[in-house]
Amino acid sequence: MLYDIIILGGGPAGLAAAVEAYDEGAQNILILERDLELGGILNQCIHNGFGLHTFKEQLTGPEYAERYINQVKEKNIPYMLDTMVLELEDHGDTKIVHAINQEQGYMLLETKTAILTMGCRERTAGAIGIPGYRPSGVFTAGTAQRYINMEGYMVGKEVVILGSGDIGLIMARRMTLEGAKVKAVCEIMPYSNGLVRNIVQCLDDYDIPLKLSHTITFIDGKNRVEGVKVMQVDEHLKPIPGTEEYIPCDTVLLSVGLIPENEITRDADIAIDPRTNGPIVGELRQTDTPGFFACGNVVHVHDLVDYVSEESVLAGKGAAKYLRGELKTDANFETVNGEGISYVVPQHVCVDNLEQDLTFYMRVRNVYSDVVVNAVIGDEIIATKKSRKFLPAEMVNFKIKKEVLEKYPDGKITFRVDPKEAKK
Ligand SMILES: Cc1cc2nc3c(=O)[nH]c(=O)nc-3n(C[C@H](O)[C@H](O)[C@H](O)COP(=O)(O)OP(=O)(O)OC[C@H]3O[C@@H](n4cnc5c(N)ncnc54)[C@H](O)[C@@H]3O)c2cc1C
Repeated sequence: MLYDIIILGGGPAGLAAAVEAYDEGAQNILILERDLELGGILNQCIHNGFGLHTFKEQLTGPEYAERYINQVKEKNIPYMLDTMVLELEDHGDTKIVHAINQEQGYMLLETKTAILTMGCRERTAGAIGIPGYRPSGVFTAGTAQRYINMEGYMVGKEVVILGSGDIGLIMARRMTLEGAKVKAVCEIMPYSNGLVRNIVQCLDDYDIPLKLSHTITFIDGKNRVEGVKVMQVDEHLKPIPGTEEYIPCDTVLLSVGLIPENEITRDADIAIDPRTNGPIVGELRQTDTPGFFACGNVVHVHDLVDYVSEESVLAGKGAAKYLRGELKTDANFETVNGEGISYVVPQHVCVDNLEQDLTFYMRVRNVYSDVVVNAVIGDEIIATKKSRKFLPAEMVNFKIKKEVLEKYPDGKITFRVDPKEAKK
């Protein structure tokens, strides 16, 4: 059987893309998910705070996922669980997806398009190279979250968390609610990498200290963690001699960043943007290899799942347009990250494919107040995004009206941080 669309991953991105592609008329869609259930990482996120933008409600992760799972089931979109995708092959109009599961064994599935939605994984202790032994009791925050919320295991009693990304902050509160003592959250940067609301609700409300400009320099303990050495760092992130503090603990949780899961993407020779570590995509999340689309955390790490859903609708639309032969391929614009911007998605835009205004997602490099982010073509500022503060932890959503983009024939759109007074 030749599928219209195979979706790699049944997390929020895969589900939203499937639903949209179906609504746009695509048939023979198949979702492949390696886990035992649909919903992706949301299944372990039992706290609330999801869906404020999409549904104007406070939902837990599983509740948010359920809304999309129900739609997939109502539309009878087929999915295979416990099925791992191993490889993608591009043969022009046909793609081959290599996948495996216990019932069907090794499968070669043929499809006209594929949407990549494999999400991301956490950086581990190995990736950041903390000195010390390799005792038990060191977990990534997401692994601890899965153990506690899904598998029913408590991972420790006295905890130090390295990194103040959102998962670390949420786990500081979760461990406390489960009876553990969280002694400190250490963050090497002078600012937190988590959302302000999570610092207030997960640390401040529980009197958990956040040590900015601090890092763990040694993990002590041979069989089980016994403690950590923590030091203050200077502006070059180097530990400052004499600031050493020993904190006894039995558990270290790491919340030190996420990496888009793109081994399959790289093997298929789909172009990757080194700034995002995800595939280069256009306005409808088409990759640079025709027939492959990508959305969600596999493209860039999102702060809120609502934006994942928003982006995945575009990929579903794009795949359906491609199947109808309506997807235009000539991009008018390339996006460029100017001063203060670390990445911009999409990386290129074909205005003819736009049905509505286009949102560009980006992150700033530093903490900024009294600035704006400007979109510039040539010497002209075509749009401005204002905010009281721009933080690296908070993705910037920058909408530009379709009619504004239509005024310019082609070129580069540079996004940059400017002082507030920069005139149009
Ligand atoms: C611990 C944690 C806490 C979070 N808390 C919040 C929050 O409070 N509020 C909020 O809005 N957002 C939160 N998020 C973010 C939100 O969960 C993500 O933005 C969202 O889940 C990303 O969706 P996704 O579909 O791109 O990726 P994922 O949810 O990761 O889904 C990817 C899916 O692909 C599957 N997969 C990967 N590779 C393969 C393969 N080779 N074969 C088959 N299947 C594969 C995976 O099993 C997974 O199900 C949190 C994220 C994490 C990690």
